[in-house]
Amino acid sequence: MPVSTSSARAAARSLSVDEALERILARVRTLEPVPAELLDALGAVLAEDIAADRDVPPFRNSAMDGYAVRGADVATAPAKLRVTGEIAAGAAPQGALGPGEAMRIMTGAPLPDGADTIVRVEDTDNRIDTVTITVATKPGTSVRAAGEDLKAGETILRRGTVLRAAEIGVLATLGKRSISVTRRPRVAIVSTGDELAELDAPLRPGQIRDANRYSLASAVSAMGLEPVVLGIVRDTADDLRHALRAAAAQADVIVTSGGVSVGDHDHVKPVVDELGSMDFWSIAIRPGRPLAFGEIDGRLIFGLPGNPVSSLLGFELFVRPALLKMAGRTLLHRPRVTATLNDTLDTPPGLRFFARGVYDPASGTVRTTGPQGSGILRSMALANSFIDVPETIQHLDRGAQVTVIRTDQPEDH
Ligand code: AMP
Ligand code: MG
Repeated sequence: MPVSTSSARAAARSLSVDEALERILARVRTLEPVPAELLDALGAVLAEDIAADRDVPPFRNSAMDGYAVRGADVATAPAKLRVTGEIAAGAAPQGALGPGEAMRIMTGAPLPDGADTIVRVEDTDNRIDTVTITVATKPGTSVRAAGEDLKAGETILRRGTVLRAAEIGVLATLGKRSISVTRRPRVAIVSTGDELAELDAPLRPGQIRDANRYSLASAVSAMGLEPVVLGIVRDTADDLRHALRAAAAQADVIVTSGGVSVGDHDHVKPVVDELGSMDFWSIAIRPGRPLAFGEIDGRLIFGLPGNPVSSLLGFELFVRPALLKMAGRTLLHRPRVTATLNDTLDTPPGLRFFARGVYDPASGTVRTTGPQGSGILRSMALANSFIDVPETIQHLDRGAQVTVIRTDQPEDH
């Protein structure tokens, strides 16, 4: 790509990606704690410390189907023991175990007093009245101690923990039906543009389908957050004013696409200035140079560019970390890896370039997804990552070491 003086000049008055993100995150506040039912808490951030109010397991129990015995009776094999009872999971043991005795016991059933060892059924002749132990077994074998998982009084999960399936299981084990989590932001999605058509409407000359409403709403859903999907807004100040007021009434964050360039029909900035305040940035990035960021009625608003690749990239780089912070997350960045480039790549001077990549962890290589124009949404659909090329680089040969942002991986865990 030839050195373009216009992009170099623009870069000089631009914010870097990192500066823009820093300014955004400085304005973002973590939302307040709210109660959540356990099954609604997946992906949320715990807003309280959780201590065990009792031992888990609550009682000493068998780890195997077999026979509860005294260790001293099974130090050598074969050993013949009298069977005096049976204990199923969920039952309380009837009486204690004496010397020379055994009780049949199922996995999870409490040990009777006097027993300290379980012989698994495979190590016996599995008889009813008198059982022969065929394998010598050490005292304590296959016994789960009370409190071996969680100890009463111990803090098990700390505030700030992201709740996954395993943490939800631990909370259930502790009998927590409702817990305190950081409220998750609701995100309004607004598409602007006179050229946009609904998915099922006939396309009139000059019209295209509204892709961004669907891709951006899905990017919100993919984070486990709730999008408030608003319709297409026409390029008039009136329509936009109406839509943004409605969005601010329903959501914590408003994400618009389109209308943030300097075209005659780009109304986002003047309307937001009227309803609240907005910074209008030129970012040293390709794709996606214009970005607007501000506030309406205490709600944050991100004005993303309309090109479908630019809007999704802007969401990934700027909106997603902001939403994560609001939701109480502390890890805000996707994993980055160094990979060997399997293509050549020309990138614009003075602009940080985010190529859409296919990263292969097995070989540690990455290639681009073909044409990289900001309107070529297919380049995103084929990608599992971004290749992050610094402003200072204009050309990369095959074999170059590049930084890959793994958008197929979560920020945490
Ligand atoms: P704008 O940022 O409004 O100047 O739009 C830049 C480009 O993105 C134009 O080609 C628009 O037609 C296109 N565009 C804007 N909004 C959308 C959308 N919601 N879906 C698909 N393309 C869009
Ligand atoms: Mg437009």
